[in-house]
Amino acid sequence: MWRMTRLLLLGLLVTGLAACAVNPVTGQRELSIISADQEISLGSQNYGPAQQMQGGQYKVDPQVNAYVREVGQKLATVADRPLPYEFVVLNSSVPNAWAMPGGKLAVNRGLLTELNNEAELAAVLGHEITHAAARHSAQQMQRALLLQAGVMAVAVAAGSADERYAPLAVGSAALAASVLSQRYSREAELEADHYGMGYMARTGYDPYAAVTLQETFVRLSGGRNSNWVEGLFASHPPSAERVAQNRLRAQQLGVRGELDAERFKARTASLLRDKPAYASYDAAVKALGEKDFKKAQGLVAQAIERQPKEALFHGLLGFLALQQSRPSEALTDYQRALSLDGDYYQHYVGAGLAAKALNRPDQAAQYLEKSVALLPTATAHNALGELALARGDRELAVEHLRIAAQSDSPVGQQARETLNRMGVAVNAAPKG
Ligand SMILES: [Zn+2]
Repeated sequence: MWRMTRLLLLGLLVTGLAACAVNPVTGQRELSIISADQEISLGSQNYGPAQQMQGGQYKVDPQVNAYVREVGQKLATVADRPLPYEFVVLNSSVPNAWAMPGGKLAVNRGLLTELNNEAELAAVLGHEITHAAARHSAQQMQRALLLQAGVMAVAVAAGSADERYAPLAVGSAALAASVLSQRYSREAELEADHYGMGYMARTGYDPYAAVTLQETFVRLSGGRNSNWVEGLFASHPPSAERVAQNRLRAQQLGVRGELDAERFKARTASLLRDKPAYASYDAAVKALGEKDFKKAQGLVAQAIERQPKEALFHGLLGFLALQQSRPSEALTDYQRALSLDGDYYQHYVGAGLAAKALNRPDQAAQYLEKSVALLPTATAHNALGELALARGDRELAVEHLRIAAQSDSPVGQQARETLNRMGVAVNAAPKG
């Protein structure tokens, strides 16, 4: 996928097909390298990996996902550009929201719990819809593609606090990660607020909710909460200017719609109820970073007691067991996690590593291959390479190890050493 995209882009640059086009939202003429079709396919291809990097989808209460989709689709039908819009809630406590090109949007569990009403949710989604519709996201991706055209072998750490203990994404996932970590310009932010508020007014929401939302963000950005710094504030910087502009825009729109505070509280009640469980889990991940396994174990047990249906909690138990060389226990924990959420790569990576440690190579390979299909990681490719080597499939082993060797992490180093021992030439790890 990645190689194709890159060749396509370079081809367009060389043949001079990069052309001027009219922006579907602002009506202005601008340079456009990526066509609408490419925009949609880039977004679709990177949507899955990007979700995986941010904790996967929130599954405990499927009603929450349905609710955000409902509000999102209402706004999408009045947007200035028809796109195959999609909306998901991601299982991360980091307050964040993002848009991939082609209308692929996401909002984190940790942002929903900070909102006061449905109109504020509409303000978040209207803003992100505009990023996609006005091609801001496509321009971000265009920049990422151009920057990386010469350096394909970029290994990226998954971004959120939830993911600090996560394996590193490699290869094609690097593009999704680079787009997630980019920051929009001041102009793009003002434009996204402006048009997003128009969509709010058209669907009967009170545009002033975009003012109160921005005020909350400015207030919170003055605090020291690192979650906020690495979340929404990094990609969509709030400012006093945005508060003022949004107030002007609301006056100009001249309508007062609904806030729908009661409905918002009712439909997202499970998130508030489970907030302490996720706080325990986040503290456990932090303890893990400090290598305090005992503390992490206690905290994750608290989290499970509060919400036994959350797969992430059982996955973390599995990770702790694996770290302490108890693979049989780890496999049971990961299988429990997979029975609750069979769509998240980390549980497959963990189950694969546990099965490998238990000398069950076929089962291990199955799990690891599933993980790689969701999100390619150096950890999984390295393990798959070792498994292939053990059964004498040298060609496949080299293929997997070469991908793992792209990462400058310890596991990438391990893959390079294995390749060296096999007499296979490897490039030095990239910085990144
Ligand atoms: Zn933004």
